[in-house]
Amino acid sequence: MPDENSAAPTTAAIPERNWAGNLTYRAAHLHRPRSVAEVQEIVAGSPHVKALGSRHCFNDIADTTADLVSLEALDTGVEFQTAPSGDGGIVWMPGGMKYGDLVLELAPRGHALHNLASLPHITVVGATATGTHGSGNRNGSLSTSVAGLEIVRSDGELVSLDADHPDLPGAVVHLGALGIVTRIALRFQRTFSLRNNVYLGLTWERLLDDLDAVADAAYSVSVFTNWHEITMVWVKARTDEPDVAAEEFFGARSATVPTHMISTADVENLTDQLGVPGEWHERLPHFRAGFTPSKGEELQSEYFVPRRHARAACHRLRALADAMAPLLLTCELRTVAGDDLWLSPATGGDVLALHFTWVRDEGRVRALLPEIEAALRPFGARPHWGKVFTIDAGELEGLYPRLPDFRDLVRRFDPRGAFTNAYLDRTIAAFA
Ligand SMILES: Cc1cc2nc3c(=O)[nH]c(=O)nc-3n(C[C@H](O)[C@H](O)[C@H](O)COP(=O)(O)OP(=O)(O)OC[C@H]3O[C@@H](n4cnc5c(N)ncnc54)[C@H](O)[C@@H]3O)c2cc1C
Repeated sequence: MPDENSAAPTTAAIPERNWAGNLTYRAAHLHRPRSVAEVQEIVAGSPHVKALGSRHCFNDIADTTADLVSLEALDTGVEFQTAPSGDGGIVWMPGGMKYGDLVLELAPRGHALHNLASLPHITVVGATATGTHGSGNRNGSLSTSVAGLEIVRSDGELVSLDADHPDLPGAVVHLGALGIVTRIALRFQRTFSLRNNVYLGLTWERLLDDLDAVADAAYSVSVFTNWHEITMVWVKARTDEPDVAAEEFFGARSATVPTHMISTADVENLTDQLGVPGEWHERLPHFRAGFTPSKGEELQSEYFVPRRHARAACHRLRALADAMAPLLLTCELRTVAGDDLWLSPATGGDVLALHFTWVRDEGRVRALLPEIEAALRPFGARPHWGKVFTIDAGELEGLYPRLPDFRDLVRRFDPRGAFTNAYLDRTIAAFA
């Protein structure tokens, strides 16, 4: 973090694009405030303003026409509130902090988060604001760890929502619509270690017969497929739970070399496999900090279906395998535990997440998505807020029972619509 007194400019050139390179930001200014007071001043004086995280969303969720605010230079400090038992607690951190930096604070103290996404490169606020998740039958999304938020509303006021505040379940997955989060608190627990074993040759028949058992076989399980066949299964087991590592996994055989889910990508970018134990932050993400995650040149989409529809949804998508093949780099199936956060894709019950990594050809991907969305519509599939989808506000209203309440929350925090943008008009439509 820079010195508070340094003369570094607090505005900078707009980063032209998001991480995937499929979006050029339209904002006129990028601000890099170093204090909460500066954030308040920028927000109160701007007609249209949004916070920018690490730019890993694949759509225009973070875009705006006037002012973007990066919190990279805002150092509000990291503050631990440890439980009397010493085994867990709450950590407050700055609104621009990335998971990769947070783990450097947690791990040396013997603390852990319950789960991580496939990459540590993303900001805690950007990820939790969009319902970002990892895998595991018993693991809620990353948003479920949020224990508090401090938000600058559009009138420039700083409001604090602690763990008991009635607005918090509505405000955690906020899509950037409520204001600029200057501090966020996450729950942490005692550290743990895992092993990742990769298995090849699982058949679709065996997976669909034993879907619940496969997903429940370890703390975090990811199934990769091109929809014609299952390409591999990553089984991340805690070392303090019964060992599941074996030569065989539901008829699949153990990989003998590190294996990337995208065959043309570099295995150097992956966290360790082959059953080598490592701390939670070195095994839960698929990709290593400081290295290119996933393919690098790609798009992503993802849909969440209630667990009871998991088999039927897979059957529907297998029928589209040929249509997807020219565009698909890989697909990942993960389970996420249900929660009660208003706009969480897992709100109301456990879900299967169906993730697609596409080649970076947005026109062709967008032309195909309505077919995938139609196949999943009977199951009430919800889209990942941060990825490419075509589902609109009308359909989202039927998928999220608390959407009308969220609109009220938006109008309370932002009556002048300063944080709304084209994305929020299409999806939330709080000002329609
Ligand atoms: C290679 C790759 C792998 C991925 N893997 C996963 C995965 O495993 N699981 C998964 O669920 N998703 C995954 N994603 C998606 C990713 O986690 C989400 O897109 C996440 O939101 C990115 O966070 P960010 O910091 O880049 O946010 P941005 O894209 O910069 O912003 C996202 C939203 O958060 C808002 N925001 C950010 N900071 C603040 C703040 N301080 N105050 C108010 N609003 C704020 C922005 O305005 C915007 O609305 C992956 C993406 C990529 C590129």
